Amino acid sequence: MSLPGIRSIFDKFGILATPQRLEVAAVLLEKPQHLSADQIIDRLRKGGSAVSKATVYNTLKLFSEHGLVKEVMVDPIRKFYDSATHPHHHFYNVDTGELSDIAHELVRFENLPDLPQGTERQSVEVLIKVRDQV
Ligand SMILES: [Zn+2]
Repeated sequence: MSLPGIRSIFDKFGILATPQRLEVAAVLLEKPQHLSADQIIDRLRKGGSAVSKATVYNTLKLFSEHGLVKEVMVDPIRKFYDSATHPHHHFYNVDTGELSDIAHELVRFENLPDLPQGTERQSVEVLIKVRDQV
């Protein structure tokens, strides 16, 4: 994605553009994808960037707070940042560590429980964990 394109997305999501944020966004928003913070840092390093680890983590947190990216927790220590924020579900392969999309309309719920009193549904997201067949 072009720099002006990223800047206009930042405007839309109320994110102040800094050189570091633009660098992180350029990696993550390049295409629909799921990347961990470490994978993003890796790509930044390969591209010659000197953005610190802490800055990358803070930037990703900010992006997800503003709704620019979606966090997908696959287990308590593994988190991916999803550049596609429309409602959809995921397969997670525990052997390969790969996260892939499932179209929203492919999962249907027949019997969701009543919501706790005084709450409204924000989202329902399914993570189907798979492993390679032996
Ligand atoms: Zn996804």
